[in-house]
Amino acid sequence: MTYQRRVANSKAKRKVAFPKVWPTMVQVELLDEGEQPQRATRDEGGAEEPPHHGFYQMAHERVPAMHLNLPFILDDLKTETSQKQLSTARNIMKSVNQQFLPSLDKATHIEFLLSPLDEGLSGGFVGLDASRPWLLYWCTNALSLLGEDVGIYNDRVISSLKPLQHPGGGFGGGNGQAPHVAAAYASILTLAITSYHASRGLPENERLAVYADSFAWIDRGKLLQWIRKIKLPSGGFKVNEGGEEDVRAGYCALVVLALLGYDDEDLRGDPSLGDLPLLGGVAEYFKSCQTWEGGVGAKPHAEAHGGYAFCVLAALCLLGDPEEALSKNLDLNRLVSWLSARQYAPEGGFSGRTNKLVDGCYSTWVGGCWSLVEAAANAAESRKMSTRINVGDLWSRKALIRYILTCCQGPNGGLRDKPGMRPDYYHSNYVLLGLSAAQHYYYYDDSFAQSPVITKSPFRHGYRWKSSKNVPKPTGNDGAGGGWLEGLVSDEGDRVGVQHPLFNIPLGAETQLQSWWEWYNDVGDVDSTSSEI
Ligand SMILES: [Zn+2]
Repeated sequence: MTYQRRVANSKAKRKVAFPKVWPTMVQVELLDEGEQPQRATRDEGGAEEPPHHGFYQMAHERVPAMHLNLPFILDDLKTETSQKQLSTARNIMKSVNQQFLPSLDKATHIEFLLSPLDEGLSGGFVGLDASRPWLLYWCTNALSLLGEDVGIYNDRVISSLKPLQHPGGGFGGGNGQAPHVAAAYASILTLAITSYHASRGLPENERLAVYADSFAWIDRGKLLQWIRKIKLPSGGFKVNEGGEEDVRAGYCALVVLALLGYDDEDLRGDPSLGDLPLLGGVAEYFKSCQTWEGGVGAKPHAEAHGGYAFCVLAALCLLGDPEEALSKNLDLNRLVSWLSARQYAPEGGFSGRTNKLVDGCYSTWVGGCWSLVEAAANAAESRKMSTRINVGDLWSRKALIRYILTCCQGPNGGLRDKPGMRPDYYHSNYVLLGLSAAQHYYYYDDSFAQSPVITKSPFRHGYRWKSSKNVPKPTGNDGAGGGWLEGLVSDEGDRVGVQHPLFNIPLGAETQLQSWWEWYNDVGDVDSTSSEI
């Protein structure tokens, strides 16, 4: 076959379908014939009433034009993937085609999330027996995001997690199960959340008592020894002994080490005993997982994926200032290009991988990456007068908020992947966490004084994060512009809690926990000194 004929054939196969009539930028005309536009899901009252009690916004207000219609140009080569993508986009546009943006129905989501804690789980959940700490984490964190006080569950969380501590160190996913680093991660996060809530507003001695109940029973020495067993000479970690190696294991291990207050000496270990330094080669390992697309895979040479990208970006930001840690270890231009391609138009939600559909949980995995990349690319709010150039907002927070509010709220409570899917506890937490990422701007700030222990900690960079309700405005090439824009949410009633962008627990819970370790270590020093005497 000649070159010209091959080209002619490929052209015949790849006809591009242009629309007969170009839609205007504000049209949302995707309904089937005879179909009525849906009303806002929470608008059960009169037809003319907006769904909000107070301020409300039009569903498409300030959403970029590309989120208002199906793509103007469609590839005529039909594959299963392209057809699923088009039908998903059509369905989602039907859901978002509402006059008013529905409010976040906090009351029914709270009811959905309280049910497993107050009434227990049905027998159908037996298959999740190895995910006990995860179920606790998803529900308590999601409730905390919705403004619920989960401190009342602290004692029960402790009694549920204690039996998961393995005699050899670490945590299993269920009673009597072998230790796994994800189980340790979810256990420590849950304890950090419920003890933070339980101790709020208490005098210092009572606050310390809450933390002592929550954390003093953890065998930190054995846990450290167990983490040594999953450390690899490559710099990475395995999820458990004999288990798979991936960046999720590295992220979980670093978060556990950071939140349990280990110091440099603990992490170095004893080379004469063959200990590998726990942070040795870890940044280089994460660096080797960036793919040709610009995203990050589970391990070197694996496909780029939103969940693994978040693990790597968050872990790197535990080890350094985000600007330095990300730009030194990753090709940021390619990363931004890949992250940008994860937010789909017109849907507004994120996909986790190339050619996959949007899914509400990537609001956290990809939205969380944006929080860290933006912190690396903009000045801290406390330095408003800084001469540093701001790049501004790099993604459409409005489009994600529209996707979450119109597509991810289950009619009977709970949050979900997309319309047609059932809500679950995992998606409830990660959709709400993503909503928090869209409603808040996070930045790194090393301009305030911290305790000497945190200042010396190998994870000190994780304790310098702050949040703002404003987003930075881009600075022009001539240095003009910059500053901060207000208004990430239009209705304060929809606002969810502020979360730590690396640990995914309430912002502030990490410093409360560290201040307790300082007290605990001091008491330990006093105890050992007095016994020596
Ligand atoms: Zn999902």
